[in-house]
Amino acid sequence: MGYGWKKQGRLAPLLLLCLLLCLLVAALRGWRLSRASEEAMDLEGPSLTVYLHKEARTVEMDLDAYLYGVIGGEMPASFPLEALKAQAVAARTYTVRRMKALGGNPCGRGGADICTDSTCCQSYRTEAELADTWGDNAEAYQDKLLEAVSGTHGLIALYDGEPIEALYHSAAGGHTEDAQNVFSAALPYLVGVDSPGEEDAANYQQTRTFSREEFTEAVNGTYAKAKLSQSKLEEQVEVLSRYESGQVAQLQLGNVTISGRDLRKLLDLRSANFQIDISGEQVEITTQGYGHGVGLSQYGARAMALEGADFREILEHYYTGVTIAPLEEWEAEG
Ligand SMILES: [Zn+2]
Repeated sequence: MGYGWKKQGRLAPLLLLCLLLCLLVAALRGWRLSRASEEAMDLEGPSLTVYLHKEARTVEMDLDAYLYGVIGGEMPASFPLEALKAQAVAARTYTVRRMKALGGNPCGRGGADICTDSTCCQSYRTEAELADTWGDNAEAYQDKLLEAVSGTHGLIALYDGEPIEALYHSAAGGHTEDAQNVFSAALPYLVGVDSPGEEDAANYQQTRTFSREEFTEAVNGTYAKAKLSQSKLEEQVEVLSRYESGQVAQLQLGNVTISGRDLRKLLDLRSANFQIDISGEQVEITTQGYGHGVGLSQYGARAMALEGADFREILEHYYTGVTIAPLEEWEAEG
């Protein structure tokens, strides 16, 4: 007992010191976060209304402060600065087209210009969420994202003097897709271009394995007329045509013909650029790339930036024929 007490007596100041150090680190981190938060709040631009879909409420934000959260939600902060800047301009342009005050077409959820649901508009993460994800890199990544937003302040991509529909995705699979092939509306600046260097993307190629039963039931469950039979899949399933990008245009499934993106949706595949391999008991589907493949490829932008391209070159590559100009210029003319 006496020994323990003595030991404790020696340990107590040490423990106290550790505790103080921990508190100091926490305080410093908190100070850094609040400082970054203040800087982000200083990010200017016209204000917009944002529907926070997880909290089911609408808030008002300055454009650039909103964009900070969008870039953080949409692109890894480890990407090169010029790729993040390209993402900032794409996201700003996408947003401007939804801002009522600028004559845009609002998303409308919660009465807002735009929402934080990535399946509807763009992802958005709060500064606290981002800092939490980034851990030890928080300070460096905050600076980088602030630089991506403020370094492109007010810049948007224009075609024929109007802000473009700045679609973007993770990885095209080597070649981006014409908007017409995915969204049934042709846009002159959303046409397929080569997108090299994307192979570093996680799961760039991904193989999903289904049992014959799973595949058959999934297809027949949605397309009753397909009438797939587990034992005849080899004859019943065939890719009929592909677009230049490699995405599947038409696919035969028994008695029905569907698009590659329909199968993507049905089976939650990473892209419509896939190969189907039926052998033994299994149906293997291997996809290339991630996302709809239209517009800016984020991993392609990363590859270009690593090769020394700046954000303007990246945007001009993925959005054919656009010019990068200040928002104020467009507003003055419009
Ligand atoms: Zn939305």
